[in-house]
Amino acid sequence: MFRFDALYVDGVREIKSGIKQLLDEKYSDVFPSDKKSKILIKPNLNSNMNALTGNTTDLRVVAAVIEFLQDRGYKDITIGEGTNSGYYRSNISVIERLRYDELGLYYGIMVKDFNYSDTVPVSFERGVKAGVAKECVEADFLINMPKIKTHFEAGMTVCLKNLIGCLVGQQNKKKAHGALSDNIVNLNMAVKPHLHIVDGVIAMEGLGPTRGTPLRAGVIFVGDDPFIVDLMCARFASFPYQKVGPLAAAKRRGIIKDEHLQFVNDFPLEHIHRFKPPTAGPLATFIHSPKRQKYFLAIRQTPLFNYLCSTEIGGKLLYLAGLRQDVFIRDEMQWGGLSLKKEKCTDCGICARYCPIEIGLPHALDKAEGMDSEWQERCVHCLYCFSVCPKSAIEFHGTQGFMEEQIRQYGEIIKKMVK
Ligand code: SF4
Ligand code: SF4
Repeated sequence: MFRFDALYVDGVREIKSGIKQLLDEKYSDVFPSDKKSKILIKPNLNSNMNALTGNTTDLRVVAAVIEFLQDRGYKDITIGEGTNSGYYRSNISVIERLRYDELGLYYGIMVKDFNYSDTVPVSFERGVKAGVAKECVEADFLINMPKIKTHFEAGMTVCLKNLIGCLVGQQNKKKAHGALSDNIVNLNMAVKPHLHIVDGVIAMEGLGPTRGTPLRAGVIFVGDDPFIVDLMCARFASFPYQKVGPLAAAKRRGIIKDEHLQFVNDFPLEHIHRFKPPTAGPLATFIHSPKRQKYFLAIRQTPLFNYLCSTEIGGKLLYLAGLRQDVFIRDEMQWGGLSLKKEKCTDCGICARYCPIEIGLPHALDKAEGMDSEWQERCVHCLYCFSVCPKSAIEFHGTQGFMEEQIRQYGEIIKKMVK
């Protein structure tokens, strides 16, 4: 029968202890017995918006899984993701901006951008062949770690859609859009993660995947069947599964059966949310209707359109029209350290709950005396602590770069959400 569990968690301690306990008690038999096995963790790193915006997989959840694996003696662990093609086309490393490279260094594991991987072919609709990263097919154990978020094209994106990031580069990702829902199902028939660990600690509602609102949902779902997990996420979000493209396609194709629906309906979910739907603006809705989308896709493939996309003004116009979800700001953040404004700090402990590597906040910052202090060597520079502090007691030194826009859009929302 299906294996599925829900963990209700919030701070980093709960996340790490909850994941360790659950995997030990209920999933230890699914992991390979050979400790030299190649383990691949596939988060959702859709854009450079950090986990607190609801967009990408939380470093705390991935850190918890790495610590579990390392405690069990696994040596060959890689984090891999084919990040959003718009960023990679603009020569922006989403992996670096989200600090996954530093998390990898901290734990001594590899981090790989699948946009530069060798490919293995998978079959899409109408005879199209697309290339997935070889690592996804060759891993001995693949852990899919998506985020729960609404998505204006697919309805919701969780386990099934997260595998789009296994496609190599823009040229292969584009091929999925010819028949997106069916191709997502096809991808899941070809690449089959052994385990799904879903980050819903901070989810996204509204106009996802990148223009929605973060929602502190406080949940991690674990299961071995992506259709069950995604159906459960739809129920958790009060979203009719028929409105989630890949789930509707899987039901139509007979992959989702009555026993799937029965299991999901009978599961005792402790909390149910009512996510705001991803309602796009009038132009995006007009263009993305099933009848017209193929014409837009054809235009999107032309060299002129690609050129316009690569210009700053073209990108801004598409963003304002709602036809592009991201703005590709090229300025990187320049890190100059963090310090604590003691007079503002109330010792509320919120920052400590968000530090993925549990550096001992806020007092670690109080002891900081320049770049060589011990905490600064461990810090992965994620700025989670800075973003959540309700009193703005953590001071950032340096230049915010692309983070400035993220803080402008989400700073106040995040501070209110975590209180
Ligand atoms: S969140 Fe801010 S106010 Fe609260 S303990 Fe941390 S630094 Fe102090
Ligand atoms: S101290 Fe702050 S910036 Fe550094 S790892 Fe912890 S949360 Fe991230």
